[in-house]
Amino acid sequence: MNKYALVTGASRGIGREIALRLSDMGYPVIINCLSNKAAADEVAHIIESKGGTAEILMFDVCDEADVERALDRWEEAHPEDYVAVLVNNAGIRRDNVMFMMADEEWQQVINTSLNGFFYITRRLLKHMMPRKRGGRIINVASLSGIKGMPGQTNYSAAKAGLIGATKALAQEVAPRNVTVNAVAPGFIETDMTKDLPHDELKNLIPMRRFGKPQEVAAAVAFLASDDAAYITGEVFNINGGLYT
Ligand code: NAP
Repeated sequence: MNKYALVTGASRGIGREIALRLSDMGYPVIINCLSNKAAADEVAHIIESKGGTAEILMFDVCDEADVERALDRWEEAHPEDYVAVLVNNAGIRRDNVMFMMADEEWQQVINTSLNGFFYITRRLLKHMMPRKRGGRIINVASLSGIKGMPGQTNYSAAKAGLIGATKALAQEVAPRNVTVNAVAPGFIETDMTKDLPHDELKNLIPMRRFGKPQEVAAAVAFLASDDAAYITGEVFNINGGLYT
């Protein structure tokens, strides 16, 4: 039986670096993304060139039927294997002030971070819990979910919801050897933050710089490791000192 790691949104940014780190730890990795197949191929190629195993599984985390179809397909091809490390990383921003916010800006953000977490985690827990096989679930939340960010009521709500779910699920599944934790990055250099005023924002960060995706991936890798076996329901802040 092989223990796989599945990283949602692993074609770019933070998810990509998490996939690379988990592969370095020896996990065969399932790379998920929504549509950017070329970028996912590149991540798979890097992993394979270092002797690791990577598979691409494209699905929309917001779409329950799509999630089920993709995971059915994977399970049929891997009757002996299971996903032991799940990183719920896929996320989007659709910023707007609340009084101007369109229904779809609210729904798309909640659907991606919160409903995506629900559909995938519910499904994969079934394979982690029997006979206390164990597993690691790591949710990529955000400073916005802790502090709340103006212009991001949708995103802050989704990420705060994800943190609440992390803490609740951690207690449910702890007796089954499954840990559930979250990381809460501040400002990280990825496509998601490309359009932000970097110079202005850097001045608010005690470390005076944005974080690197690798710096988030390192914390996720630790939470996935045996060394973190007794840590659950926790939120790791990775924000260069930028709290409330
Ligand atoms: P990014 O560079 O924009 O990459 C987003 C990734 O998510 C891509 O791989 C994208 O796939 C995938 N994705 C988006 N919607 C999806 C869906 N419906 N189904 C499947 N995959 C989907 O973002 P990032 O900055 O790395 O962010 C990763 C996570 O960290 C997000 O949850 C984000 O909220 C969180 N975060 C980021 C920051 C930051 O400063 N960057 C701070 C705090 C938290 P495609 O390539 O196919 O589009």
